[in-house]
Amino acid sequence: MQTNIIEAYQQTMQGQQAQAILRQCVHCGFCQATCPTYQVLGDELDSPRGRIYLIKNLLEGKDITEKSRTHLDRCLSCRNCETTCPSGVQYGHLLDIGRNIIEEKINRSAFQMTVRFLLKKGLPHKLFKPLVAMGRILKPLLAGKLQKKIIPRRPVGVIPRREQTRKVFLLAGCVQPALLPSIDAATIRVLDAVGVQALIAPNSACCGALRFHLDDQPAALRDMRRNIDAWWPMVESGQVQALVMNASGCGAMVREYGYYLQHDALYADKARRISALSCDLAEYLSNFSEALAAKLKPAAPLKAVFHPPCTLQHWQQLRGVTEKLLTQCGVECLPFNETHLCCGAAGTYSLLQPAIADVLRERKLSHLTAAQPQMILSANIGCLIHLQEGTTIPVLHWIEWLDERLNPKI
Ligand code: SF4
Ligand code: SF4
Repeated sequence: MQTNIIEAYQQTMQGQQAQAILRQCVHCGFCQATCPTYQVLGDELDSPRGRIYLIKNLLEGKDITEKSRTHLDRCLSCRNCETTCPSGVQYGHLLDIGRNIIEEKINRSAFQMTVRFLLKKGLPHKLFKPLVAMGRILKPLLAGKLQKKIIPRRPVGVIPRREQTRKVFLLAGCVQPALLPSIDAATIRVLDAVGVQALIAPNSACCGALRFHLDDQPAALRDMRRNIDAWWPMVESGQVQALVMNASGCGAMVREYGYYLQHDALYADKARRISALSCDLAEYLSNFSEALAAKLKPAAPLKAVFHPPCTLQHWQQLRGVTEKLLTQCGVECLPFNETHLCCGAAGTYSLLQPAIADVLRERKLSHLTAAQPQMILSANIGCLIHLQEGTTIPVLHWIEWLDERLNPKI
């Protein structure tokens, strides 16, 4: 695609990165076929190709309106289009640049700014956990939609504290430990069962994805640097072998620290190393699949569907890894249609674009339930909660199921 980017952007890093990405796009439109928002809305401007044009116009100094931003806001950042694109267009990075520039150019309404401010400040805040606890107590008094978002607490169980020679870091996170601390507890127990000690660095917290996707990129970069500082001493000394991610959304973001901090003189090398050490929990546990299978307590076989989050299959390009591990551990992973499409959760998307998110969830659940599973398994807190809102079939993180097979009495 030919570009004519205005001088002001030509001089910036963002402008140069955007130009390089834009020039790779040959405008073939293959990406339209797998874009969830295009499937739902049918408008070219709600497709990857349409959004690429909008960003190109923005960089070429053409008129950009609130309506253009709406089309960018409606993008789920699922990166399904990247998986489909034959030219390797890095749409996700282009979208980040487009959103960042438009955020600086056009003010949002007071309402939108307030909602975004509350999400950015509230979800990663330490007070979020007590708020969730209060929400659970007051649940019967809340409106139906909000009620469904407050997922019941699941038992955390006993967390092993024994020292192991092999050590990995888990992300401290923000939303997941507040809403479902059972996921981290299950992860620590399963890792312990195969001789790996999972540590959580005291000064680490949110991976930065939350603020990044709410278009507060400076704050997200601060989150990344804080985490790197928290992990670095043990990474540098070789005491920790990997950063194991049990939420694919966070895993996708940490894998990109090296990209986002590539021009930061102080952090670029560290960020690259951190990204290289980051791996998905299923990827890591695949090294121990035989040991795990040998430790499983006998149980009736489980027929389940595994919903692969977009951040796992499109961002991290990890397809089939979790399914293979689960199969080795005795799950019959039932096939279903449209595995590639987003469920509509997409971080805070289901809160900011509920109409599209609900349509996508119904579509996803219709395929998942058609397989008649006993359980729906997934790998990201956002997908779990969003899907559970729309079905009575239990939706679990797969590590919770595996933990239960290893430690049935907990
Ligand atoms: S992003 Fe890729 S698939 Fe989509 S129009 Fe451009 S080249 Fe074609
Ligand atoms: S990231 Fe997802 S929603 Fe956005 S344009 Fe690409 S396929 Fe469509």
